[in-house]
Amino acid sequence: MQSKTSNFDVIVVGGGSNSLTAAAFLAKIGKKVLVLEKNAECGGGVVSMSPAPGFINDPHAVAMVTAVANPVIANDELELQSKFGLEWVWADTPFSTVFDDGTGLQTHHDLDRSCESIARFSHKDAETYRKFVTECREFLPLLLKGFYTPPLPFGGFIALLEQSAKGRRLVTAMLESCADAVEMFESPELKMHILKWAGELMVHPETKGTGIVPYLLMGMSHDFRMGAVVGGTGNLARALERCVLHHGGEIRVNSEVVKIDISGGRATGVTLKSGEKLQARDAVVANIHPWDLKEFLGDGIDSELAAVARKVKLSSHGAINQQIALSEPPIWKAGAEYAPSMLVECMQRDMNGMRQKFDEYKYGRMTRDHLSPLIAVQSNHDKTRAPAGMATLYLYHFAPLELEKGGLQGWDGIKEEVGGWVFDEMCKYTTNIDRSKILGWHIETPLDHHRHSKMMRNGDIFGIGTFTSQFFGRRPIPELAQYKVPGLDGFYLAGPTQHPGGTVTLGGRATAMKMMMDWKTDLRSAFKVI
Ligand SMILES: Cc1cc2nc3c(=O)[nH]c(=O)nc-3n(C[C@H](O)[C@H](O)[C@H](O)COP(=O)(O)OP(=O)(O)OC[C@H]3O[C@@H](n4cnc5c(N)ncnc54)[C@H](O)[C@@H]3O)c2cc1C
Repeated sequence: MQSKTSNFDVIVVGGGSNSLTAAAFLAKIGKKVLVLEKNAECGGGVVSMSPAPGFINDPHAVAMVTAVANPVIANDELELQSKFGLEWVWADTPFSTVFDDGTGLQTHHDLDRSCESIARFSHKDAETYRKFVTECREFLPLLLKGFYTPPLPFGGFIALLEQSAKGRRLVTAMLESCADAVEMFESPELKMHILKWAGELMVHPETKGTGIVPYLLMGMSHDFRMGAVVGGTGNLARALERCVLHHGGEIRVNSEVVKIDISGGRATGVTLKSGEKLQARDAVVANIHPWDLKEFLGDGIDSELAAVARKVKLSSHGAINQQIALSEPPIWKAGAEYAPSMLVECMQRDMNGMRQKFDEYKYGRMTRDHLSPLIAVQSNHDKTRAPAGMATLYLYHFAPLELEKGGLQGWDGIKEEVGGWVFDEMCKYTTNIDRSKILGWHIETPLDHHRHSKMMRNGDIFGIGTFTSQFFGRRPIPELAQYKVPGLDGFYLAGPTQHPGGTVTLGGRATAMKMMMDWKTDLRSAFKVI
C-alpha cells in the first residue's frame, strides 16, 4: 500500500496491536494517520500463519483475556466487532492442567465447576479457592480502573490503595510473590496449576513483586471469558487495519523507521531505512524499545535518562513456540473433558520439578527434564482453522532468552532438537499423537521472536519484564510511564513496554487518550468508558 501524500497529522511507527489501536482512535477523531510497519504485514504478535495448506495457526498470541477486558472489545469502542468483522470464540474452560499420572485440574469460567475440579484434590482448597476468587473479584474493578488509561504515578496509586483494608491487602500481594500467594492452598496440584499459569507473566513465580498476578488471573478468568479470534489471531490486526482505513488512515508495510526527526524540541516526522523522510504535523507515536531510545531520538532524549532506560530488565524467560498441523486432534489421557479447554498445560505431578524448571531458565539452560508444554488446539473451538477431522496444534514451552552455551544466537542450532523434545513430551499425555500425525511443522525460538519484532527484544515476548519496579506507573521507568519523553514535544510511546504492558492489551488506547488529553480534545469523542 503506497502513501498518497507525504503530510500527515500523526505518524505511527509499528503496526502491532497496540500501535494500531492508537492509530484507530486517532483516525476516529479525524486525524490523518499513517502507520508504518517494518514487516510484510501488520500485527506483530497478533498474526496467523499456515504450517500446511488448509490450516490456520497462531505463532504468537493465541488466547486473550487482557484484550477482552479492554473497553475496545468489552464496549466495542472502535466497532471492531459490530462493523469491522472481528469475531470471537469464547472459552467456558480457559485453562486446564493434565498431570503425567492421568489426573488433572481445570479452571472453568464457572466458579462452582472450578471448585468441583479442585475438590478432587482437596475439599478444603475448593472452599479456600471460592473465598479467594470472591476477593479477587472485589479487587478487580480497582485494578482494571486504571489498566486501560494512562497510569497513576506509582506513589499516588499505592497511597490510594493504602487507604482501605481491601487496598492494603492488594499492596501486600503486590510486594509478595506468586509462590507466597498460593501458600493459602494445601494441595501441591492446585499450587502448580496456578503457579505455572502465573509463569505466563514471563517472570519466575517466586520473584517478589509478582503476588498480584494470581489475583488478576483468577479474577479475570471468572469475570471475563478468555477469547480467541475466529479464523486466527491475525484477524484482530485485520479488523484494526479496517478501522484505521475506514477513518481515512493509511498503512504502509515493509517500511522500517530508523530515526525520529526532531526540530526545536519537537518530533516532526520520521526517516525510513530506505532514506525516505515523512513529516507529521501533530505527533509521532512510536514502538521503541527503552534500550533503543537514544538510537532513535539522538539529542531528543537526555543522555542520563536514556542510560536509565537502557538498564530496564527483560523478562525471566521467553518461549519456544511450535505451529503444527495434525491429521487428528489430540485425545487426552486425562479424559474427554479436557478437549474443550482453550489452554492445556501438561505437567509432571512434581512441585519441586516445576520449580527447578523455572530456575533453569535463569541459568540459560534448556534441558529435557521436567518439560511442561502448554497446548492450544484452536480447531477444537473454531472449525475454520483446519480441514474436517484434522487439527491445529499450538505447542508452547518456556525457554531461556540467552542460552548458557551460545547466547541468543545459539537457538538456531538447537531449535529442531528442543522442538522435538517438547512435541514428544506432549505425546505422552495423549492416547493418539506421535510424529506420524504431523502434516506441517513450524518452530519459533526466542531468536525468531527477536527477529520478528523489535519490541520482542532478545526474545522477550513482552518487551521487558513485568516486575513491580517496571509495572503500572513505573513502566518502563517512571519518567517515561506517561507515554512521553520529558522535554520532547509531539512524541508519544506505544507498545508492550508501556503500561499496561505485555499480552495483547490493546493498550494503545491509553496512548491515544494521553494525546487527546494533551490536545484538550473531548475524550467522549473517542471513548465510551473514561
Ligand atoms: C510466542 C508468543 C506467544 C504469545 N502468546 C500470547 C497469548 O496467548 N496471549 C496474549 O495476550 N499475548 C501473547 N503474547 C504476547 C503478545 O503477542 C504481545 O504482548 C503483543 O503482541 C504486544 O503488542 P505490541 O503491538 O505492543 O507489540 P508487537 O506485537 O511486538 O508489535 C510491534 C510492531 O511494531 C513493528 N515495529 C517495531 N519497530 C518498528 C520500526 N522501527 N519501524 C517499523 N515497524 C516497527 C514490529 O515489526 C511489530 O509489527 C505472545 C507473544 C509471543 C511472541
